[in-house]
Amino acid sequence: MATWRCVKQCGACCHLAPEERPELDEYLSPEELNHYLSLVGEGGWCIHFDHETRECKIYEQRPIFCRVTPDNFERMYGVCGEEFNEFAIECCQEQIEAVYGADSAEMDRYNQSLA
Ligand code: SF4
Ligand code: SF4
Repeated sequence: MATWRCVKQCGACCHLAPEERPELDEYLSPEELNHYLSLVGEGGWCIHFDHETRECKIYEQRPIFCRVTPDNFERMYGVCGEEFNEFAIECCQEQIEAVYGADSAEMDRYNQSLA
């Protein structure tokens, strides 16, 4: 089974665009949802996303809902331990497709990282 990983030069999940994530209130608490909405900047991108480096400018202090961990995914999505990798990989692929496209270099890079 593939192991989830984040690849450099992506940042697709930092495109927060709440209109594209109508189920936010199903997995974020009201406080987290307010925090999430406060981060939405131009074009739906997070205000902490560095578009040149494609990295988070507050990585060590990033919110809990940005952290891809088994514990967090169980809390937010009810995904139990052994489902974590598959679920997290699908989340990345869905987000990369939505932001960059299914045939994008970002998707190629992501899929190659799983091989
Ligand atoms: S979508 Fe996945 S691979 Fe891309 S930056 Fe987010 S966690 Fe990393
Ligand atoms: S806080 Fe950082 S990791 Fe979270 S969405 Fe913003 S740029 Fe991405």
